[in-house]
Amino acid sequence: IEETLVLVKPDGVARNLSGEILRRIEAKGYSLVDVKLVEPDRSLLVEHYAEHEGKPFFEPLVEFMESGAILALRIAGERVIDGFRALAGTTDPTTAAPGTIRGDLGRDWGGKVQQNLVHGSDSAESAARELALWFD
Ligand code: ATP
Repeated sequence: IEETLVLVKPDGVARNLSGEILRRIEAKGYSLVDVKLVEPDRSLLVEHYAEHEGKPFFEPLVEFMESGAILALRIAGERVIDGFRALAGTTDPTTAAPGTIRGDLGRDWGGKVQQNLVHGSDSAESAARELALWFD
């Protein structure tokens, strides 16, 4: 059984959407393995987003992720890595398909970062790396 890391980003927690996002994950049939509310150190966020270091949105992204509490989820199920990314929808919430978390609950709020409510690991390698960072 596969596992993946999901983060409800600070915009999702601040807008009280954690329950709605958990509801969608559970309704899809995935199970919760571990859950915690965290205010991560900058060093964790820099490691988490290491692949984006040097991009113009990197610094605003780290600042946004430091701006409030994050709900970290370890979830499990067959093909959950791809399955959660399908539930989340594409990166830009303005054009993410209706029916997805980002498409139904997100929009553009201005600013330098796409505030898109959730993160999900994008491969088995990322999931292993990110679960170790956030949960071990
Ligand atoms: P996806 O892989 O579906 O795009 P993701 O969350 O993994 O989702 P990444 O490309 O890894 O997206 O980017 C990480 C985060 O950085 C995004 O979720 C978004 O918050 C922000 N981001 C990405 N690209 C941009 C951009 N061009 N402008 C502003 N913010 C961005």
